[in-house]
Amino acid sequence: MCLDCVKQKCPDRGSMCLDSGAYLVNYHGCSECKQKEPLKTVDVQKDIEEDGEESVSYQHVCPNCMHVVAEHSYSFSVDGEFQDYNMFCMLCGKGSDTISINPTDPRKQQTLF
Ligand SMILES: [Zn+2]
Ligand SMILES: [Zn+2]
Ligand SMILES: [Zn+2]
Repeated sequence: MCLDCVKQKCPDRGSMCLDSGAYLVNYHGCSECKQKEPLKTVDVQKDIEEDGEESVSYQHVCPNCMHVVAEHSYSFSVDGEFQDYNMFCMLCGKGSDTISINPTDPRKQQTLF
């Protein structure tokens, strides 16, 4: 993992959680070969646990010299009535979100009144 290739180390993305792709706005360019090509995704690992927790991890690499720019991890779990999403990546940043599995989210109903 390398910090020279990103503009901002692990930016805060709020509720943005991605299990694929790359946040190229934050890509400064490859520190090894000085090229700025769209990053390749390699070494994708997907795990689904028995309790429904899901995790995805992969590496962002420079397609020109295969330098590893960042490691991306994403996880998804169900906690009671809520689904939790988490993302952590030096390039794409960190984000987390919680969504109710009920179509009528009690928190959203409260805000209507
Ligand atoms: Zn680098
Ligand atoms: Zn490179
Ligand atoms: Zn990423």
